[in-house]
Amino acid sequence: MQKTYDGLSLVVRSLDLDIQRGEFLSLLGPSGSGKTTTLMMLAGFESPTAGEILLDGSPITRTPPHKRNFGMVFQNYALFPHLSVADNVAYPLTVRKVPKGDIATRVAKALDMVQLVGKGERLPGQLSGGQQQRVALARALVFEPQLVLMDEPLGALDKQLREHMQIELKELHRKLGVTFVYVTHDQGEALTMSDRVAVFNDGLIQQIAPVEQLYETPVNRFVAGFVGDSTLLTGTVGQADGDSCELVLPTGERLTGLNINRALPGTQVLASVRPERIEPCLVKPEALGNAVQAAVTDIIYFGDHLRLRCAVNGQAPATVKLPLAGGLQPVVGQAVWLHIPQPYLRIYH
Ligand code: ADP
Ligand code: MG
Repeated sequence: MQKTYDGLSLVVRSLDLDIQRGEFLSLLGPSGSGKTTTLMMLAGFESPTAGEILLDGSPITRTPPHKRNFGMVFQNYALFPHLSVADNVAYPLTVRKVPKGDIATRVAKALDMVQLVGKGERLPGQLSGGQQQRVALARALVFEPQLVLMDEPLGALDKQLREHMQIELKELHRKLGVTFVYVTHDQGEALTMSDRVAVFNDGLIQQIAPVEQLYETPVNRFVAGFVGDSTLLTGTVGQADGDSCELVLPTGERLTGLNINRALPGTQVLASVRPERIEPCLVKPEALGNAVQAAVTDIIYFGDHLRLRCAVNGQAPATVKLPLAGGLQPVVGQAVWLHIPQPYLRIYH
């Protein structure tokens, strides 16, 4: 599928997205990467310039939004301010001409689902931001849609409320078994809530994978940098041999890692490793190899782990995460060797 607004630049360049029934799929990417455009094409508010959208094998590309039976939640809630909470939630049922008696029952059930029992008579303006967002959610779910589309629905909430709502949304998804497609630019949010994440950049899906796979095996620099914390090293490729290659640092030190996208010997590369995979040692781990010399410049206590900042010659500062129960008691200024096990050093051209 493709989309251009002006006939010149493709804002969604090549989209091949297979959404599985019942999954929680997030579309994650920086601002302008094409997430909202993709969601609007799924909802039917925008049509693709090329390509088809299939639902259970049948094309719905030309089906208008109200006939797709998808629920939609927007960032700004989009509630009717002059209608009561109950009437807002009833709205999709009214337009679908559901009998009056059924409407009351279904609205009550939907309000119960989002923990707003007793708030039906209020106006949206009399509710907190989190409560208003739950009204929007009840309105999107009340007609039992097959698919619920959400565009940064928690963006307007403060951090604490947002984290609380993330857990509630996740629980609701599990209870209902409805398919959720959720747009966010927040990688933490995508990782905590989703079954799978599609990482967008520049109108292209860079990688779509279950959360753990995305975190452990990013397929390119962009995904490695955008999802989760990484320690980065720049250098050139030394010997390359199948799936692995040498990383030659500007200091002349050599490490071995995974050659993720077939970088050729002599080319400039970026290597990344998750901070929790790095093992700091006080003496050079000769037997293990794959270590780079560093000095501890800062130690931050995080409650469940320590985070070290280390200076590495010719490189940006390296972050290392250490469990509190670890044997090493680092001090600022200490010289250390950072051992990076070969399977965790991912090298990208
Ligand atoms: P995201 O939701 O990832 O921030 P969008 O899908 O909103 O990205 O935007 C992708 C690109 O399309 C951006 O360059 C944006 O400026 C452009 N764009 C979005 N909506 C329109 C529109 N209605 N008309 C023209 N250009 C648009
Ligand atoms: Mg957007």
